[in-house]
Amino acid sequence: MAAKIALVGRPNVGKSTLFNRLVGKRLALVDDTPGVTRDRREGEAKLGDLSFTVVDTPGLEEAPEAALEGRMRQQTDRAVEDAAACLFMIDARAGVTPLDKAFASILRSSGKPVILLANKAEGSAANAGLYDAYALGVGEPIAISAEHGEGMGDLYAALESFLATEEAVDESNDEIAWDDPLKPLRVAIVGRPNAGKSTLVNKLIGEDRLLTGPEAGITRDSISVEWRWQGKNREWPVKLFDTAGMRKKARVQSKLEKLSVSDALRAIKFAEVVVMLLDAETPFEKQDLQIADLALREGRALVIGVNKWDLIEERNTKMRSLQEMAGRLLPQAPGVPIVAFSAKTGAGLNRIMPAVTQVYVDWNARVKTSELNDWLQEATSRHAPPAVSGQRIKLRYIAQTKTRPPTFVAQCTRAEEVPDSYKRYLVNGIRDAFDIKAVPIRLILKKPD
Ligand code: GDP
Ligand code: GDP
Repeated sequence: MAAKIALVGRPNVGKSTLFNRLVGKRLALVDDTPGVTRDRREGEAKLGDLSFTVVDTPGLEEAPEAALEGRMRQQTDRAVEDAAACLFMIDARAGVTPLDKAFASILRSSGKPVILLANKAEGSAANAGLYDAYALGVGEPIAISAEHGEGMGDLYAALESFLATEEAVDESNDEIAWDDPLKPLRVAIVGRPNAGKSTLVNKLIGEDRLLTGPEAGITRDSISVEWRWQGKNREWPVKLFDTAGMRKKARVQSKLEKLSVSDALRAIKFAEVVVMLLDAETPFEKQDLQIADLALREGRALVIGVNKWDLIEERNTKMRSLQEMAGRLLPQAPGVPIVAFSAKTGAGLNRIMPAVTQVYVDWNARVKTSELNDWLQEATSRHAPPAVSGQRIKLRYIAQTKTRPPTFVAQCTRAEEVPDSYKRYLVNGIRDAFDIKAVPIRLILKKPD
């Protein structure tokens, strides 16, 4: 059974809004028997590759003022009782209220891990409330906007440690130098069976070298195809890895559903850029998310390709909903490009390679050390590193040590004690300041030599 996460806070801070965002349409249990106050509701929540049961505690609004404290404690106790962790929400615009303090004290005495969410913080509109929130004594606040979906990446990172996830995958080396014009850009097309991978590769290279379709026993003699793409400023040699081909080559017929993930992993290891192919009619299923998450953990640049667009009628609505889903379900990759097309008719295929080369360039981004250090100074003075056991953490120097994906090392006192939330603040800062979109960014904090 999925771990439970309790959503706690006074009325009107935005709990239901976050609940709905996390649960979407997957609401498992709603008790709307007339005359019965809904004390709590539960739903199956998804955030990136994390699945958990979120327990909301609405209904307090209806309680008479005098009874509020008692009822509040009772309900909170029940919701928190078997939760793995609590999301404690305040309204960052309203600041900290006496009722917030009462909740904080209940939560502190529960002994459960607490993640403090400062909601309604869209567009960093609520910095003052954010600082107040430290006074609640339940750790560092994470600024989010439940309504606009901001801060979901930070929430993901905070929740991740309380929830079991798949084992991390080994790091693999990237041995090919980026500006060697003869080395092809290695692109993997991954996705669930029948997403249209073979059809896409065929169409892209303009010949029917790979066979598609439901016929049994079709094999290919190669798992990759080389090809050249004419970009705006240069021609790109490209090597496409097609997981459908890998599967067919291995002649493995059984357990296709399961296999496609391990095939995808193989292709991801070969690749620099991963195009995750979704079926427009059934996008973002569990396996899609697993594959996308694998690609990002492997440090690859990601593009989401939405295939079978010819079957979609309300395209604008569909695209908006895909963007919303990507923001919510893939918070690890903010701004990942989503391109829609029909591999079958060829419509929209010209959108793929510009997106692929764009993320490839970001993946190879190199930031000047002087600019990085200017940024670090500004970032640490805007929001100073926290103090740990009475001593302030000092960040002294930062440099980029690697590209593909961009990797930064900062010298830092008490490096191992820097809270994750502060690391996230730095990573997001690098992303924004140097416009590195849609690719993983790694930040390593090291004790000064
Ligand atoms: P609950 O009582 O804690 O469940 O709060 P609701 O989810 O019902 O939200 C209370 C009000 O705050 C509603 O009017 C929401 O639209 C609003 N709200 C929720 N999240 C946000 C947010 O991120 N930003 C802003 N500005 N308003 C929000
Ligand atoms: P793979 O398993 O991911 O390699 O998928 P295939 O390329 O074999 O395609 C699976 C099925 O989807 C085939 O019947 C294709 O004809 C069909 N298909 C692929 N692309 C499209 C598309 O853009 N539109 C439509 N309508 N069908 C498509």
